[in-house]
Amino acid sequence: MSAVELAQALWLLVAALGLALSVQHAGLPVLGQGAFVAVGGVGTALLGPGGRGWPLLVAALVSILAAAVLGHLVALAASRLEGAYLALATWALAWLVYRMMLAFPSTFGGAQGLVRQSPAHLVSPWLGLDLTLTPAVHVVVAAVTCALVVVAGIRMTRGPAGLDLAALREGPELAASLGIPVAARRRAVLTVTAALGALSGAGTVVLLGLVAPADVSPLLSLQLFVAVLVGGTTSWWGPALGVALLTALPHVADALPGDAERGRGVLTAALLVVVLLVRRVLAQGRRTAAAAPRGAAVPDLPHPVRDADTVLLRARSITASYGSLRALDGVTLELWSGHVHALIGPNGSGKSTLIKVLSGELEPDSGEVEVRGTTMTAPGPEQRVLEGVAATPQRTIILPGLTPERQVAVGLRGGSRPRQAVLRHLLATPSSRVAARRTASLVAELLRETRLTPVARLDPAELTVGEQRILQIARALATGARVLLLDEPAAGMSSDERTTLRHVLRRLAGNGIAVLLVEHDMTLVNAVADHVTVLDAGQVIATGRPSEVRADPAVQRAYLGTP
Ligand code: ADP
Ligand code: MG
Repeated sequence: MSAVELAQALWLLVAALGLALSVQHAGLPVLGQGAFVAVGGVGTALLGPGGRGWPLLVAALVSILAAAVLGHLVALAASRLEGAYLALATWALAWLVYRMMLAFPSTFGGAQGLVRQSPAHLVSPWLGLDLTLTPAVHVVVAAVTCALVVVAGIRMTRGPAGLDLAALREGPELAASLGIPVAARRRAVLTVTAALGALSGAGTVVLLGLVAPADVSPLLSLQLFVAVLVGGTTSWWGPALGVALLTALPHVADALPGDAERGRGVLTAALLVVVLLVRRVLAQGRRTAAAAPRGAAVPDLPHPVRDADTVLLRARSITASYGSLRALDGVTLELWSGHVHALIGPNGSGKSTLIKVLSGELEPDSGEVEVRGTTMTAPGPEQRVLEGVAATPQRTIILPGLTPERQVAVGLRGGSRPRQAVLRHLLATPSSRVAARRTASLVAELLRETRLTPVARLDPAELTVGEQRILQIARALATGARVLLLDEPAAGMSSDERTTLRHVLRRLAGNGIAVLLVEHDMTLVNAVADHVTVLDAGQVIATGRPSEVRADPAVQRAYLGTP
């Protein structure tokens, strides 16, 4: 392998590592990294020596910045697009850039591309540099860049940002309900991915003195995507292996009969199929890991004295619909500090809808939600979480691959959202270490409080349904919630687990938290609730102490089924 080939592979690796951040670590299927590579390469060629004549470093920096802005814009435009749509949108961008290069030959040099002097000279009196950029220099610069990206990447994914990324990857809807600003994180990730893609493009054009449309065609985007998939979920060596395979591809394609260009496309596609199959098999193997034994049960904590009662959350005349179906019709409800408030009612009576409105997930048609006296105006759960209101969904959503300990830490992130914490962690400042220790002790306390300490380090897939449901509560609690909205947390729990849930809820209430509990099991409701509200067809038909509500004739007719 020549120095040029090695340098080229290393620059390609920069693009692959950048893409890995989006695809592997944040779970964003970006299929258009080639577009950002093209912007970096073409921009540097157009602006730099031989083009507009700007100094090489300035031309490259401006191009990288332009690509970063483009990445940011793509993320903005795609913020509501999930999975396949994001893949399609970025793929379309790669196509667009490619076709544009061919459509304007006077600017982009047509099929032959832009040709520049090679090796380039880097002369910067300002930096005191006068250097001929030989392939050997490229090898060193690109290798150092890769190393820096990997080291920064590893540190980042192990730190607080890694928790956000994991939540983003494993459960975007859940991340939002825990207060993690999903859209902002996606923009940040895509911006970094685009910038690294452009850096790769700039490095390559300076190395080869050439950028042709065929080199940055959508095939490049697909190849980089495959290269990143090779490494499995979150390894940093994966992209290196993928790029090594890609570098070998042309040699294999040349050896095959027929057109080498087409052969490369076919081989890439074949590689993609193989990679996907292998990953599937590996993933299945991982899931059959043996279950570990549970530790001994944690003793019950003494029942604490109730705080002074205050209304933490008030909903006034909430009306909400799905299209023409009115799911809630003038619902008014108060949640008190230190109280467990049960919400009961037949299926389809609007219980889950009410939780969605209170947690900010669904905007009501009319009516308002007040938290500690302040009317909530911002839509979405993120702001609500910062105000201390967190919900757990009716469906169990577990972040696979994150131990319960880490899952609780995700919740901790969402509620506090520390600024600059990522940078501090990257630089390993003393304050970041103090913060890490504080996080660990808070997590331990939350796990104790919810009696999950014995399973804290297990694979979440090994948890029982009941433990997973309680983990959801711990996660929501970690956001610092003063109001917990729990949608059927006891669903799927054994009777032992229900008892645990009862203790956990009483203990939370004892700490002054307001709990809204959607539950069907009247035994549990009677045992745990201070207050019961009954919904029927979107309206409150009764509210009061459990004994009063039980005796209410309207409730018996509508729900309890006894005459
Ligand atoms: P509950 O939780 O009490 O069983 P829901 O709040 O889930 O009830 O549902 C209330 C009503 O709204 C039901 O008639 C249900 O079919 C309807 N509904 C719930 N979610 C949706 C949705 N996403 N789109 C349309 N209709 C919905
Ligand atoms: Mg429901």
